[in-house]
Amino acid sequence: MRWENLTVETRHDRPADAALFGADAVTTRTFDTPEFAGITFHEIRARSILNRVPGASRMPFEWTVNPYRGCTHACVYCFARKTHSYLDLDTGTGFDTQIVVKVNAPELLRRQLASTRWHGEHVAMGTNVDCYQRAEGRYRLMPGILTALRDRANPFSILTKGTLVLRDLDLLRQCAEVTDVGVSVSVGFIDTELWRTVEPGTPAPERRLDVVRTLTDHGIGCGVLMAPVIPFLGDQPDRLRATVRAIAASGATSVTPLALHLRPGAREWFMAWLARHHPYLVRRYERLYADGAYAPKWYQRRITRQVHELAEEYGIGPTRAGMPRRVPPPEPVEEPTGPGPTQLTLI
Ligand code: SF4
Repeated sequence: MRWENLTVETRHDRPADAALFGADAVTTRTFDTPEFAGITFHEIRARSILNRVPGASRMPFEWTVNPYRGCTHACVYCFARKTHSYLDLDTGTGFDTQIVVKVNAPELLRRQLASTRWHGEHVAMGTNVDCYQRAEGRYRLMPGILTALRDRANPFSILTKGTLVLRDLDLLRQCAEVTDVGVSVSVGFIDTELWRTVEPGTPAPERRLDVVRTLTDHGIGCGVLMAPVIPFLGDQPDRLRATVRAIAASGATSVTPLALHLRPGAREWFMAWLARHHPYLVRRYERLYADGAYAPKWYQRRITRQVHELAEEYGIGPTRAGMPRRVPPPEPVEEPTGPGPTQLTLI
């Protein structure tokens, strides 16, 4: 690995280091390149890489692998922000710019998969932070991780917003030949203006849908997690329609909508963003999320119904190689013009 324009510091004595990794050393690197300007990487050697999801979790999987902590994709609403506080790191800008890298993830995973205590359960990746965030272009941990999973024919799934996943297309195909592989791409909306402000470090939604198209064209069925659907900004019927239409045109095998949720850590950061960019919506959000992190059930049900109806209309489902898509390319979406009436009446 070549390290260009690099500064390196090895630390043993800071409180954050202790919170991160007990007594182990942390190597801190910064790269003086435009791609990583302002970002600090904390390289660690993790002690375990297969994490069991707590029983009380709402997640539909039991085991995860997360080679990174923090995410340069910098989505304002990211629910993982809170986890940075467990490391004594800031949940706002710190989450976007202080990236923990488990540099031994591939070798550790290979060892843990070979353990007699491991029974080949499904492993979910991209569930805490994005495993194909920009740092992966530098550290290249995922090829080793995928190779370890392939060699044990261990089923797994990946959720990402990163176009970098296409770098590993050949490996994914090899994995799919020996085990169950699920890839989902997250696209909650296709509004360019909203994307630039609320997901500033991610590839554009159209590029993510190109990923879906490429994966499906190469035999890796790819679903879209339509998340988050952002109240009053991405949930109007014409916007939902434009997004589902674009998802259908990409050849996605499924679309699963998920309304925005705002857990502690993300909530404060998102509300500050909202006050800056859409101050007229602050009161409405306070009412919509008055009962906690999740939008009311009626709201969630309404979004789900609308998206499922649109998915049905546009025929989202598996496409066969060589078959034409059922829908034309998406039409441009009208940009927001500021405060105005929406379809929602809040309780
Ligand atoms: S890509 Fe995912 S993990 Fe990264 S900031 Fe966005 S929501 Fe969080």
